Amino acid sequence: MNFDQIKALDDEYGAKTFARYPVAIDRGQGAEWYDTQGKRYIDFGAGIAVNIFGANDEEWKQAVIAQLNKIQHVSNLYYNEAQARLAKLLCTKAGAKRVFFANSGAEANECAFKAARKYSFMKYGAGRNKIVSLKNSFHGRTLFTLTATGQDSFHRFFDPFVGGVAVADCNLESVKKTAGSDCCAVVIECVQGESGVYDLPAPFVKALWEFCRERDILLIVDEVQTGNGRTGKFFAYEHYGIAPDIVTTAKGIAGGLPLGACLFYGKTENVYTAGDHGSTFGGNPVACAGAESILSRITEDFLLEVQGKSAYMRAKLKGFDGVAGVTGLGLMIGLSLKEKTAKQVAQTCLEKGLLVLTAHSRLRIVPPLNITKTQMDEGLSILKEVLK
Ligand SMILES: *Cc1c(COP(=O)(O)O)cnc(C)c1O
Repeated sequence: MNFDQIKALDDEYGAKTFARYPVAIDRGQGAEWYDTQGKRYIDFGAGIAVNIFGANDEEWKQAVIAQLNKIQHVSNLYYNEAQARLAKLLCTKAGAKRVFFANSGAEANECAFKAARKYSFMKYGAGRNKIVSLKNSFHGRTLFTLTATGQDSFHRFFDPFVGGVAVADCNLESVKKTAGSDCCAVVIECVQGESGVYDLPAPFVKALWEFCRERDILLIVDEVQTGNGRTGKFFAYEHYGIAPDIVTTAKGIAGGLPLGACLFYGKTENVYTAGDHGSTFGGNPVACAGAESILSRITEDFLLEVQGKSAYMRAKLKGFDGVAGVTGLGLMIGLSLKEKTAKQVAQTCLEKGLLVLTAHSRLRIVPPLNITKTQMDEGLSILKEVLK
């Protein structure tokens, strides 16, 4: 099908939830994508920080195919090797005790919020159930995670929201006040991705962690976007010298297949028992086989490469005309612009063969982590031209 035919079908039958760019992606190789007209793009978006080893990665594809040749899905009524192996690998990399597999970031967060409430219930009884999140956060589109998302623009039309959720400003005083006496958990993103790629100040995060520890309030770190090597560490919280009680991740974990994970550390390892939580597709063996292929290659050496690429890109971007500021960590880069709007820039980049993301008024760059120097240079030179 050509672009016009695809667009016509989507316009007629798709729920109109997405404001799409006028392009239909057909295929890709690494950080190079092709649309249905055969036009080539450098990919600085990775499907929103998902394809962390790029498109069509051979090793990943073979791992996925090998599992597909065995069986595509088994229910969680039975054990399956791919899921068990991934559980060990992920817990080992993350230093966590246990993991629950979901299918998405929102579901991983749902699992975390429910776990926090149960933890508190078992220890302190009913009523201590408030989840505190931060202003400008993003935690997903289910009603619970949407309630915790600290951006009013997502909240129109959908009330009533879930009770026992409150949003604090990004400072300790506000968190303390909002927490009150009935708070069971605080949820943060170390780098707030969807609202513009803002990294939280380290002293605030450290103080928040200490506050949570003193009060036995669980600290949940939402690493859905920042996790799996994106920031140059396995998880972004490692930049901050804190030890969360629960970590959630999704996006990049399975290299492009839908998988979410909720990781439990010491205090919370036994919070769930049989029947408390579940998922039909969660921990699907094909997604798990893909994730094992990805995560086993996120080694210390690989993370150093990510840090090197980050430093290289940031140094260049800082010198570009039109760039007012560069934020974020690792290969999760936010750009504030002087004059042009992020939308305009993203649109012009698309025309010139570069895919970049926006996050509110800012540009967001989250390329595949294995992007090559040649590909970075090609993308950066397009961006430089467009920003002039
Ligand atoms: C994308 C994202 C989510 C939601 O993930 P889905 O897979 O779309 O449900 C949650 N939290 C953060 C930080 C995200 O970036």
